[in-house]
Amino acid sequence: MKIGFEIHEQLFTDQKLFCNCPTNYRDVPPNTNVCPVCTGMPGSKPSSPNEKAIDSAIEIALMLNCEIVVDKSIYIQRKHYDYPDLPNGYQRTSLPIAEDGELEDVGIREVHIEEDPGKYDPVQGKVDFNRSGIPLVEIVTDPDLSSPEQARDFLNTLIRTLEYSGRVRPEPSTLRADTNISLKGGNRVEVKNINSVKGAFRALKYEAMRQKRRKEVKRETRAFMEGQMITVPMRSKEVAEDYRNIPDPDILPIRIEGEKVEKIRAEMHEPPHLRRKRVIEKYDIDPAVADVLVTERGFVDLFEAVTDEVDPRFASHWFKDILRKVLNYKDMGPEDIPFSVDNLVELLKMVEREEITPEKGELILRKMVEDPKNPKKLLEELDLKAIDRGKLVSSVEKVIQENEEAVRDFRSGKKEALNFLAGQVMKVTEGKADPREAMNVLEERLDE
Ligand SMILES: [Zn+2]
Repeated sequence: MKIGFEIHEQLFTDQKLFCNCPTNYRDVPPNTNVCPVCTGMPGSKPSSPNEKAIDSAIEIALMLNCEIVVDKSIYIQRKHYDYPDLPNGYQRTSLPIAEDGELEDVGIREVHIEEDPGKYDPVQGKVDFNRSGIPLVEIVTDPDLSSPEQARDFLNTLIRTLEYSGRVRPEPSTLRADTNISLKGGNRVEVKNINSVKGAFRALKYEAMRQKRRKEVKRETRAFMEGQMITVPMRSKEVAEDYRNIPDPDILPIRIEGEKVEKIRAEMHEPPHLRRKRVIEKYDIDPAVADVLVTERGFVDLFEAVTDEVDPRFASHWFKDILRKVLNYKDMGPEDIPFSVDNLVELLKMVEREEITPEKGELILRKMVEDPKNPKKLLEELDLKAIDRGKLVSSVEKVIQENEEAVRDFRSGKKEALNFLAGQVMKVTEGKADPREAMNVLEERLDE
């Protein structure tokens, strides 16, 4: 089985590719971020391509180990097709700005930039041109993947690499993917209309099964129907590929100088798969922990920022088990963290030196994401509110009396009943009890 991808994502620029219209299309009413260029008015003159979009595509291509096309004319092509979201009747797309890359043993055939079409709503018959002209990066891979599972893992790695670059529009994802798949000896089928990793995986699973059952597989383009999780024929390949590409006579070709490439290379972000390798070696941490650290660039950045002052192995486990959990619970990304690195270092040191229990450390962290104060101050506040031993014991006794069934379960050997009871103690004490102490008192009383 051979699988390849064409991936599109929006580049994160303030202005569109061939005009100065803003790109915050999600925040404004339909058809307000528009001008004669991005609505294809006759006689309108496109500007030369947005420099920041080109630089962004160069950085992404370098992170994918590509050769940049240097000192050559890179023409902007007009790719003709008819659809209501395409006001010119053609989409402007560049020739490759980079070629011959590689990401985890999958060949990257080329990287180029193009303009996004508008958004057509076939139900209402309305078009919104706010999106029209926003720069996209397109990445074309070789068909080096050999199963839907492998394709899914690769796509995750590729998308994470784009996120690490900081050059694509952040969440929600603007991913649009086409995939091609052929079984041994069979024709190549292209599947369009995919906009998530999960969708790609399902489309490939379906296609692999469909093609296996066929005596003969037609060479064609199919569309993935997300709701039904199937693919349906779109058009046959022979007619489809006639885009009548011609160089756009209104736009001078792009020319990339070697000096610029080296400048971008010197400042570019480290791709996640290399970063993972480096943190494992440099800090001697477990690969499974490193996998969690590198899920987001901001997360591993923060981890590396504390390693000067805190033992990296200790910090890595704490990041994986506690910080990740607290952020997930609050539905926060690393970019939303309000406290300073210094405060985090101080908290980690308090736990590392065993001045406080890990549970108390977690409690303080939960406070710190709401109220980014010095952890020592937060500890004082917590201790003021903490309940004394006598109150804890009476709370435990209350819980034991009121939860006969769980107590019976525990005494007959169901150890998980203890967690339930401890949860009840936390509830009764309104979270003021120290969880470890509550557990100890519970065990003492239950043993009696
Ligand atoms: Zn415009």
